[in-house]
Order: sequence, then C-alpha cells, then structure tokens
Amino acid sequence: MEFRDLKKQYQVLKTDIDSKVQAACANAQFIGGAPVNELEKALSEYVGVKHCITCANGTDALSLAAMAWGIGEGDAVFVPDFTYFASGEIVAFEGATPIFVDVCRDTYNLDPEKLEKAIIKAKNEGKYKLRAVIAVDLFGLPADMEKIRNICDKYDLLLLEDGAQGFGGRIGDKVACSFGDISTTSFFPAKPLGCYGDGGAVFTDNDEWAELIRSYAVHGKGSSKYDNVRVGMNSRLDTVQACVLDVKFSAFKKYELEDVNKVASKYTELLTAAGAQDKGLVLPVVNDGFYSSWAQYTVQLPKGADREKIQSEMKALGIPTMIYYIKPMHCQGAFEGTDSAAAECEVTDEICTRVLSLPLDPYKSDEDVKKVVDALVELI
Ligand SMILES: *Cc1c(COP(=O)(O)O)cnc(C)c1O
Repeated sequence: MEFRDLKKQYQVLKTDIDSKVQAACANAQFIGGAPVNELEKALSEYVGVKHCITCANGTDALSLAAMAWGIGEGDAVFVPDFTYFASGEIVAFEGATPIFVDVCRDTYNLDPEKLEKAIIKAKNEGKYKLRAVIAVDLFGLPADMEKIRNICDKYDLLLLEDGAQGFGGRIGDKVACSFGDISTTSFFPAKPLGCYGDGGAVFTDNDEWAELIRSYAVHGKGSSKYDNVRVGMNSRLDTVQACVLDVKFSAFKKYELEDVNKVASKYTELLTAAGAQDKGLVLPVVNDGFYSSWAQYTVQLPKGADREKIQSEMKALGIPTMIYYIKPMHCQGAFEGTDSAAAECEVTDEICTRVLSLPLDPYKSDEDVKKVVDALVELI
C-alpha cells in the first residue's frame, strides 16, 4: 500500500497530463505564459481572492508574504508550535523572532486562547514589535479563523494563513487560503493539490501587497525584469508544473476532494466501530461548520503505546505510516539559545510523542481502509 498513492493518481489522469505537458514541451514554453496565467486566474476564482501569485514552493510563498510586510529584525510573529518547520523558519530567515504558541489537542490547530495569552505576555515584555500571526491549516483542517481574526484585529496584528496543507478546506462557504490578509499554499506532490515537483502560491485581496509580491518574486523588478528596484528572489512556478496542476485541479474539484473526505469518514467509522477510542486512540476532529481537505488522517496512539513498534509491525504488514510531527518547533535545534526556544507548549510536547498519520488519498478503497484499521486496532 502507498502512503499517498500518486502512482494511481497518475494512471487515472495520465492521458490529460501527458498531452498538456507534451504541448508545453513542443511549444518550448517553460517559463510563464498562458498555462501559468490561466492557473493563477482559476486558483484565485476558486479561493475567492482577487490576486493569486504562483511561486516556486510553499516556503517561498510564506517568505514573499513576510517580505511584502517588511517583517524583519526586532519584529515578532506568532506561529503554532506543532507544524512543519517552514512555518517558523521563514520568520527567522527574515531576521524576526517566531514566538511559538501551543495548539488545540483535538484539532491540532493554533489555540486562540493561548495565542491571546502569548500576545499579552510579549506585549508586556516589550522586547519585540509584534507584527503578525501565522495560522496553519494543519492536516487539511482550517484553523479557527474567526477567533484568530478577532484577536489579530484586537492587537493590530496581520494574519498570514499558511494553507500549504489546507487547500480545499472550508469554514462555512469560505474557502481556505482566503482567511489571511495574505494566504499561501504549497503544491509539493504530497499536498492536497500537488504538482510534479515544487510549486506554491500566494493569495491576497490587497493590490499593493500583490504588486510587491510579484516584484519580490522576480528579483525585485520595477518596470521590467532588468529594472531592479529592491532586492528580491527568483521564485516562479514552472510552466510544465502549471500544466500538471491544470489537470490535477480539475480532478480535485470534480471528485478528489470529495473522495478523500469519504476515505477519512470511512476511517472514523471503522475505527469507532472497532472500539479504538475505548482503547485510548484519539481520532481527528472536524468541528461543526468546518470541512477538511485531509492532507493527513492523524490519530493519537493510546498513552504509553510503543509507537515505533506499532509502526514497524504495520510496515511488516505492508502498511506505511508517518509521524507528523516528531518534534515541537520550540525544541528544534535551529532555535536553540534563542527566545523562540523558551515557549511552553504542553499539548504539543505530548502529541508529538503520540501522533501517527495513516495512509490516505482519494484513491483508497474501503478494503484498504479496513486493512489499516484492523492492523492498528489489533496492535494497540
Ligand atoms: C509543506 C509545508 C510548507 C512548505 O511548503 P514547500 O512547498 O515544501 O516549501 C509550509 N508550511 C506547511 C504547514 C507545510 O506543510
């Protein structure tokens, strides 16, 4: 069994992907052009945001947002402690300080109450200029954006939505990547909407920031690529990747997003029926009004379970599993000795020892899910 079956997906979409990619090659169109422009238009329409600027990857997308806001030395940005490294890395890369905040035990997303406490504490200490909050849509589930937005407004902070795992998620009828003042996503192959290499996108309604981001992404261009008015970077989505995404985005809208939700529901149904919760397993929660794009189906093993042993026994049965994430951000070596390391995040500390992500993609059958559930329930 594949953890995320990109081979199967390719077999299903092969005819369309091959012909689009071959057309780009035949036209020798490798940078920019209609496929990239059309994709940006389609993505911005789907998300319901005025501007979409594609770029080289989800990390650059976050960096471009921070650059547009001029985040740098002396600034602090609030970041969940339980996320992929890039969410906090880009803050430090710009010379600012990430302040890590604990997450909710059930949704894995930023805890609004703890966020407000961390803001008040940092404000009272007065060491940093508080600039922004990065809210991550972890595992496909949008963060609690209404509460987080209210807190941002109250303390005059910008909201950056890291939707790298969240593309396709929703709260009510509002779509992920529309919640931030700037929002970003990643098209890394294993994300909910992935390409065949690296890719990313930035979303915003703000004309001025959109123009700045387009400039920063092309060496700080002014009136042209050869008129450089600021120091930027080279970050673009290749034309061939835009062609792949064109086909994959259609499938995503047509059935993949719905199907991955069905597979996730099947996991919840079968695990519940097998009494997994009575054995201490914690299942992922999607609160009322929320819709997940299910980048991962992540459970918490019973307290004290031997995760390594469970993983290796499942592997022996042909079932791959992953640990997202094994280390709290504030414990990462890169932040050792900095103020970022001082965070106290008891929920993250605990769930990092218990989480296990199960094989998931829109192409999994009920039999696949049953095989995983039977094995897991037997082992806990
Ligand atoms: C994958 C990911 C990123 C980075 O995306 P890349 O395209 O790999 O650079 C950032 N944030 C989160 C939460 C991610 O999962």
